Amino acid sequence: MNLNFSGLRALVTGAGKGIGHDTVKALHASGAKVVAVTRTNADLVSLAKECPGIEPVCVDLGDWEATEKALRAIGPVDLLVNNAGVALIQPFMESTKEVFDRSFNVNVRSVLQVSQMVAKGMINRGVAGSIVNISSMVAYVTFLAWPHTVSSTKGALTMLTKAMAMELGPHKIRVNSVNPTVVLTDMGKKVSADPDFAKKLKERHPLRRFAEVEDVVNSILFLLSDSSASTSGSSILVDAGYLAS
Ligand code: NDP
Repeated sequence: MNLNFSGLRALVTGAGKGIGHDTVKALHASGAKVVAVTRTNADLVSLAKECPGIEPVCVDLGDWEATEKALRAIGPVDLLVNNAGVALIQPFMESTKEVFDRSFNVNVRSVLQVSQMVAKGMINRGVAGSIVNISSMVAYVTFLAWPHTVSSTKGALTMLTKAMAMELGPHKIRVNSVNPTVVLTDMGKKVSADPDFAKKLKERHPLRRFAEVEDVVNSILFLLSDSSASTSGSSILVDAGYLAS
């Protein structure tokens, strides 16, 4: 997608791999200054080679105190992509407190924390910012291979998105989500580990396909840009028609 983000500063979480990695590359190519936040330093080293000039921040976003410390002096941010997420697979009946807490801390609580810090700066500067949360199609439907920890956290994230849009709207800050079906990143490959299940699941999509990383990145860029100036509290399904099936 050919958009110009020159003069704007963006922060992307979960920037080391998959959707976050390609979002950083797209924003960098579109002229934005990018702060790339992720957990594995080696990913930031290689990302900095691909995108010279990015500002790397290595932190575990599931750790509130470490995140506070790492992002306290982050400076002005105009565009925020809350993309970091985990898919910790445990059947409901075997779920532990640790997995439940970790899932909510990374997938939901970190969105609250990072967005608070960034939105405070936007409000103080009086800029019209845009925040995009990466939710999932499983915020609306479940399927057995995908753990309840993803569905429940992404369901919560969809409503957190709307609540943020309500409160931040008067400050001209828009908040939306992108809700993809399976994308064959490291995370998405967990679904395709069972080829029979993956084939049946794919065939249930009206378009007979999963989503590509690029499809998700394009929706993120659209929601970050002024092309979606009147859109807030909303979500874009990138689901190959699944929810229509
Ligand atoms: P990947 O697992 O490929 O990449 C996730 C990135 O987030 C990695 O760089 C990872 O770092 C980082 N990350 C994870 N936990 C933390 C943390 N605690 N602190 C900082 N960084 C962290 O996932 P995807 O690119 O596929 O997923 C991106 C988003 O899209 C997620 O929110 C996911 O739920 C959502 N999504 C994905 C779908 C899919 O099928 N792939 C479908 C629907 C939604 P590290 O590897 O070092 O842990």
